Amino acid sequence: MNNIRNFCIIAHIDHGKSTLADRLIEQTQTVSQRQMQNQLLDDMDLERERGITIKSHAIQMDYKFEGQQYVLNLIDTPGHVDFSYEVSRSIAACEGALLVVDASQGIEAQTISNLYLALGHDLEIIPVLNKIDLPGAMPEEVSDQIVDLIGCERSDIIHASAKEGIGIAEILAAVVHRIPAPKGEPDGAFQGLIFDSVFNSYRGIEVIFRVYNGEIRKGDKVKFMATGREYYADEIGVLRLEKEPRDVIKTGDVGYLISGIKTAKEVKVGDTITRMDRLAAEAIKGFEDVKPMVFAGIYPVDTSEFEELREAMEKLQLNDAALIWEPETSAALGFGFRCGFLGMLHMEIVQERLEREFDMTVITTVPSVQFNVTTTKEELLKVSAPSEMPEPNHIESIEEPFIAAQIITKSEYVGAIMKLCMDKRGILKNQVYLTSDRIELQFEMPLSEVVFDFFDRLKTISRGYASLDYQYLGFKEGDMVKLDIMLNGEKVDALSAIVHRDKAYEWGKRLCEKLRELLPRQQFEIAIQAAIGQKIIARETVKALRKDVLAKCYGGDISRKRKLLEKQKKGKKRMRQVGNVEIPQEAFMAVLKLE
Ligand code: GDP
Ligand code: MG
Repeated sequence: MNNIRNFCIIAHIDHGKSTLADRLIEQTQTVSQRQMQNQLLDDMDLERERGITIKSHAIQMDYKFEGQQYVLNLIDTPGHVDFSYEVSRSIAACEGALLVVDASQGIEAQTISNLYLALGHDLEIIPVLNKIDLPGAMPEEVSDQIVDLIGCERSDIIHASAKEGIGIAEILAAVVHRIPAPKGEPDGAFQGLIFDSVFNSYRGIEVIFRVYNGEIRKGDKVKFMATGREYYADEIGVLRLEKEPRDVIKTGDVGYLISGIKTAKEVKVGDTITRMDRLAAEAIKGFEDVKPMVFAGIYPVDTSEFEELREAMEKLQLNDAALIWEPETSAALGFGFRCGFLGMLHMEIVQERLEREFDMTVITTVPSVQFNVTTTKEELLKVSAPSEMPEPNHIESIEEPFIAAQIITKSEYVGAIMKLCMDKRGILKNQVYLTSDRIELQFEMPLSEVVFDFFDRLKTISRGYASLDYQYLGFKEGDMVKLDIMLNGEKVDALSAIVHRDKAYEWGKRLCEKLRELLPRQQFEIAIQAAIGQKIIARETVKALRKDVLAKCYGGDISRKRKLLEKQKKGKKRMRQVGNVEIPQEAFMAVLKLE
């Protein structure tokens, strides 16, 4: 146990966490030269395609140092704000963290938020100044920022280049010297905290856990404390590049367990595993509950696939503890699920994973934050779907969620960013100069104005020189209205949105225009209307198609006709028929691209 070190790598997105993990894995010869590839731990297709880490990844390394053999458990973490729940769970399994800062960028918003997460768990912080090979590196200036931020000595900062392999041996030495060995009682009652899990269709669910006290042996009878269920530890082991079975996992270590569990509901991330013959009196304090920020419906395109989608959601949830959902029905779309996400990127990733890993084709509806609505009968409703919003004359008051936002940028962009934030109903709370030309702006803003396209616009107006982080603050009264969309006089509940009254008219007008572009022309005219209550506030028309596409190839060419039909069928993939109008997926997302 004295020779174990558990640590994670945290940083703002793109500052080089995954690349640094590569170098540590190489240096410790954890994988062969042949197996090595860039960002080795980003093993999901989606991660490799997008070049971002979505999941935390644990890997065990052996390291011989100063005549002693050490076991280093490394966890690489994502940097994007939508995946901070992954970071917080990884942090709970560690005693130390490498805080990586890009020497050409300096401290960014998630550098600070991830540092606070780590300090909140009393982790030992090792600051790493990465990318010192870049011509634009500013080691002196960024070192000043780091010293200011964490109050360390300048000499504590390790200068490194993950790309060129500079500073790697020094980092490993610091991991051994500065990060404390895990604590716990090796002979105590067994307690293992589940911090992640994966569904494996052949072997059942694999749970990943960190041992706090005691040890576990292959074949032990175990109990999951939250569910009360008992299993046999059919296989236990450690996470190298592949899973490697072991006979015993001891205090302080990170391991996996397979016991043939097939139903996702039986496993809960944050639960404690104990041993029937060494029962723990109580569970380890798990994780804080996730606080979803955005809600949207997910529906199968093919209504008969509802049960399949439920199974897929359960399995995905095992590997994505931040995803929450419950069944809902929509007049337009039928049976589906109301889901809570940490942000738009999270929502996008969930949809993509459902399609890639579970082969589902789904439609996601207009996302929304959650409002507190007090009715005239003094009931308090939590409303995250426009369809749940009571009629205007039944509403006493509405509160909307607010966040505290921190934006770090260069001084030249401050003006443009201020304007953007004001447009988004933001209130400037504070501004702090980090250095002579870097500034942190603190705003209070309605969450609904931030979660959708705010980040993209921020990046555009600052040419990429702005980073954003935010925390949930609480509710404030807001003058919100429900905006309905009607197609040929029929209300399409899945297209409704809850918007601020000051923006409703503009919103309605733009949304109708956008829908006119997005709805495919059909044999008949489609009237698009936006309404608040009974009042129509905007209208557009999609003209009818003049000719049937099939009419062109009447008679003769049957294969051409079939091809056309097939093409139409394919095009239908992500469409939903509402009344007699076909609505493509893009229409449901149109509200996000109004500006
Ligand atoms: P992460 O988002 O923090 O995991 O960052 P990645 O490890 O995915 O790296 C982001 C980008 O920075 C990639 O293009 C890397 O090749 C690059 N990068 C990482 N470390 C260095 C470094 O030390 N020097 C240079 N020049 N580029 C680096
Ligand atoms: Mg990464």
